Amino acid sequence: MLAEYAVQVEHSRGRRHPEPSHPYRDDFQRDRDRVIHSRAFRRLEAKTQVFTRRYSDHFRNRLTHTIEVSQISRTIAAQLGLNVDLVETLALVHDIGHPPFGHAGEKALDTAMRQHGLFFDHNLHALRIVEDFEIRYAAFRGLNLTFEVREGIIKHSHDYSAAEHPALAEYLLDQRPPLEAQLIDLTDEIAYNTADLDDGYESHLLSLPQILEGVPGFARFFAEVQRTYPAAPEKLLFNETLKSYLNRLVTDLITTTQAGIAASGMRTLEDVRRYPQRLAAFSAEVEVERRTGKQFLYDNLYDSFALAPEKDDAERVVRELFAFWMEKPQALPHQYQEKSAEDSLPRVVCDYIAGMTDHFILEQYERHCGAA
Ligand code: MG
Repeated sequence: MLAEYAVQVEHSRGRRHPEPSHPYRDDFQRDRDRVIHSRAFRRLEAKTQVFTRRYSDHFRNRLTHTIEVSQISRTIAAQLGLNVDLVETLALVHDIGHPPFGHAGEKALDTAMRQHGLFFDHNLHALRIVEDFEIRYAAFRGLNLTFEVREGIIKHSHDYSAAEHPALAEYLLDQRPPLEAQLIDLTDEIAYNTADLDDGYESHLLSLPQILEGVPGFARFFAEVQRTYPAAPEKLLFNETLKSYLNRLVTDLITTTQAGIAASGMRTLEDVRRYPQRLAAFSAEVEVERRTGKQFLYDNLYDSFALAPEKDDAERVVRELFAFWMEKPQALPHQYQEKSAEDSLPRVVCDYIAGMTDHFILEQYERHCGAA
């Protein structure tokens, strides 16, 4: 049962290259399957989310993070009467443009590009992947995804201005994205703000007292859980608390978004698109908690002393390899050398590096720049 403001697949603006319909999968279901079967999607498994494999084999990588975002997004979308297939597709594709080595790799790639007056943006890169780099079909380049999926890739987390990005004009930049896309940025936050506490605690980089002090909401649930399970070991108390904390974020996102929809009086998808603000939101109270919790993770985990050496290594590997291929483009694989006829060399080198997994880039580094 879809709400009237949901995206209806039969009203999709369609694909760049029209295709016959499938007998039992609609266009968004097919897009989801195309994303899952793409090479860039499979590579997420070997890309760092926060922790490299050095820490543990069971911490999140970009693929398991992506699956968690998808699971959380589907639950919320169903409650809001949104198009679950579109939401699932957008969740599965949302990190496909990420380079190796998590945030450090992205920063290093952007820094390298800025020296040539260019920049790296993972959403724009994701669009290039699905439009151009995936070569699977005889009839066209890319995955030939529907307009709504491509629009969601561009608009889920960021408003791009039409003046700065004329190439994106077709994506209705003066309008809000559908609620299906608006959700993704917030479900992404729910997923990593909880998962990174989990992995941070498990890695012993974050202690329970530290989390109780620094993450509002967490302490309140912990007290409750302790009363319910006075004899449970700390790790299980932590797990139960994290579960309640995640649940609170999800429930708040559902109820606040529902209230916003009701208060705005919007009925149709067109109303969502024309509304001056995004309507998917946390309540003011939870929004403050979310920001505090996120800042806690920056201060105590992402920017921690413990993770600094790996981040420095990551930045050095990206920086030196980028410089190496700029100087010796003849050492690039043949298809990338050919691409530099159409695209500038920095863009080609950037595309090559951005597609790499963590271990592939380390292998390249060893071959071209000496041991990592
Ligand atoms: Mg993400």
